[in-house]
Amino acid sequence: MPDETARITQLDHGIAAIDTDYVRPLLDASHLIIDDERAAFVDTGTNSSVPMLLDALRHFAIDPGDVDYVFLTHVHLDHAGGAGQLMQSLPNATAVLHPRGARHMIDPAKLIAGAISVYGEEAHFDMYGDLVPIPEDRIVIADDDDRFTLGGRELQAFHTEGHARHHYCLDDPASRGVFTGDSFGISYRELDTVNGAFIYPTTTPVHFDPVEAHKAIDRILGRDPERLYLTHYSQVSEPERLGADMHRRIDDFVDLARKHADDGSRTENMHASLYDYLISQAREHGCKANDDALRGIVRMDVELNTMGLEFWLDHQ
Ligand SMILES: [Zn+2]
Repeated sequence: MPDETARITQLDHGIAAIDTDYVRPLLDASHLIIDDERAAFVDTGTNSSVPMLLDALRHFAIDPGDVDYVFLTHVHLDHAGGAGQLMQSLPNATAVLHPRGARHMIDPAKLIAGAISVYGEEAHFDMYGDLVPIPEDRIVIADDDDRFTLGGRELQAFHTEGHARHHYCLDDPASRGVFTGDSFGISYRELDTVNGAFIYPTTTPVHFDPVEAHKAIDRILGRDPERLYLTHYSQVSEPERLGADMHRRIDDFVDLARKHADDGSRTENMHASLYDYLISQAREHGCKANDDALRGIVRMDVELNTMGLEFWLDHQ
């Protein structure tokens, strides 16, 4: 296994963000929680992220045998694609999965087929490699409100649909934080301004459900967090303001999708509208980057969000 050096952002409360180096820097984070010499990962990136995660353990002088959990908020491959391979290096870890997600990590055939349908076969193998299954006896199911002890703290899983039907978030009262996976949208640090973080929903196929997406935001805010740990990308504060932005933008995405529902070149038109929308919203937020830079930052999300919104339009 190549010895890669992890880019680590040290946060408070024993938490660090590790850049999984998926697609580009600062796009996809794995979080490491360390408490009383026990450790847990929240999301893992892909197979090629695994050397970075193991390097992060060395950086914090944590033995791989002291990792108790690999929490997988959901089984989309930028969150869980590296989990099977990572588990092979963590002899005592349990993978924690939503009841609807577990079987896909035991037998990843459906995940592979789903990812190939989104990215195409060649790009799929370039991005994700060969998915390693997780043995069933190393998986524990997170039912709604289940608690997990890590060192001296207790973490609580709670189910949030809207982005994926097999998604849970992880409440961490010790940090007054919630690990939100993709249930509280995407907020890239490149788009931070004097007005704070810029956030927008992720409607990746195939489970986008606006009613549930709104409920997920409220459920997360109901935990009364002071900060959120997003997989894309890491810590944000101001949960109430960002929650209001998310509610508004979920509605805006739905309006935009409906407006183009019957267009002849629906996909192209939705791409154009989503670019316009996100760039104008980012500008209003105070982002100074030029249009090309902004388009580059949101490009993958525009494409995935369009796919997910179109799938939703066709399956309502
Ligand atoms: Zn996802």
